[in-house]
Amino acid sequence: MNLYNIKHPEEQVNFAQAVRQGLGKDQGLFFPETIPTLDNIDELLALPLVERSQKILGAIIGDEIPTDKLNAMVKNAFTFPAPVEKVEEGIYALELFHGPTLAFKDFGGRFMAQALATVRGDGKITILTATSGDTGAAVAHAFYGLENIDVVILYPKGKISPLQEKLFCTLGGNIRTVAINADFDACQALVKQAFDDAELRQAIGLNSANSINISRLLAQICYYFEAAAQLSPAERQNLVVSVPSGNFGNLTAGLIAKTLGLPIKRFIASTNANDTVPRYLKSGEWSPNATVATLSNAMDVSRPNNWPRVEELFKRNGWALSELGAGALTDAETEEALKAQYAKGYLCEPHGAIAYQVLKDQLQAGETGLFLCTAHPAKFKESVERILNMELPLPEALDKHNKLPLLSDEMDADFAQLRAYLLK
Ligand SMILES: *Cc1c(COP(=O)(O)O)cnc(C)c1O
Repeated sequence: MNLYNIKHPEEQVNFAQAVRQGLGKDQGLFFPETIPTLDNIDELLALPLVERSQKILGAIIGDEIPTDKLNAMVKNAFTFPAPVEKVEEGIYALELFHGPTLAFKDFGGRFMAQALATVRGDGKITILTATSGDTGAAVAHAFYGLENIDVVILYPKGKISPLQEKLFCTLGGNIRTVAINADFDACQALVKQAFDDAELRQAIGLNSANSINISRLLAQICYYFEAAAQLSPAERQNLVVSVPSGNFGNLTAGLIAKTLGLPIKRFIASTNANDTVPRYLKSGEWSPNATVATLSNAMDVSRPNNWPRVEELFKRNGWALSELGAGALTDAETEEALKAQYAKGYLCEPHGAIAYQVLKDQLQAGETGLFLCTAHPAKFKESVERILNMELPLPEALDKHNKLPLLSDEMDADFAQLRAYLLK
């Protein structure tokens, strides 16, 4: 598989290099040089998730990774289902939150960990990342137990929810977690200092397991096929998919699925008040506002880092950007949407509620709608309980960790200390 840097197309890498490097020159994103057309879609849709995903990813990645290795990567990564639930006539939810950290990022995170373990080459690898909660959990669980890969996760002490902390600070093994006596920005600054330290980087094989890593996107393509597989051929005819979007990785993966030949009529990008893209699609002007905090905080992004990949796909496929639907909801509208879903007997959370409502607002007669549910309702327990005036039981996956002791180390925001800790 060949990829090029969107900012500097002359910079070309293979899959292994793209996975190891994450980003190209000038922070440019890597993008596949060619995306094949799959001519056996119906046959693929008849297969189970893992087997189908092995074939799809094999077709994209090509012979660079031996088939048996790739098959093992997919099997190890996709250990949980992605069920489609009917919410009302013609509207379905794709539930992506049945993985170990109850969010769709488990799909990309787990496949990236497998990919990195496969293409790593010789030498030690240390994944270093800072988290304000969720990404840390996904990274920790994805890399947990992988041989010769150490993971160090920094987080601001006392500034993430106790439940979030329990989810990734109770694993032990190759996962070390450090509560920093400072805020999230200080944690991020420490990570940056570490990556700027060439000697340290070399000594411990620093890698960021960055969220823009191409391997994440490739993994996410697979659940769009899984959604279609669970709908009837008639429902698949005029399928419209609404994607709750922050950095637009999820939407990019959907667009690649369509490029591969999956019959999706159109996509809708759904956002909260951080609505740079919906405004851009209307006015043609890219003018990000300051990021604002909302109920759907995983989408509080005003400069979505995957957007260049979306534009690249439209350009290369000869699609008009005007074909991309978009809509944004305020927090008040999000609350109403969540209540409306609940009244129909479907329990959701703010991100999925936004995707549902924007879909409903834009779905036309004869179309079937699918919206993505990116997190388990219990991950947004406080908001969901307040808005719906109910009590949510803790799901098994969270409850299990909640009972375990915290294993975190504690440290001041002092780079010299962190450096010594990393070299230990
Ligand atoms: C990360 C995240 C999103 C946004 O996904 P992007 O790929 O960044 O657009 C939406 N919902 C939840 C719950 C998330 O964690």
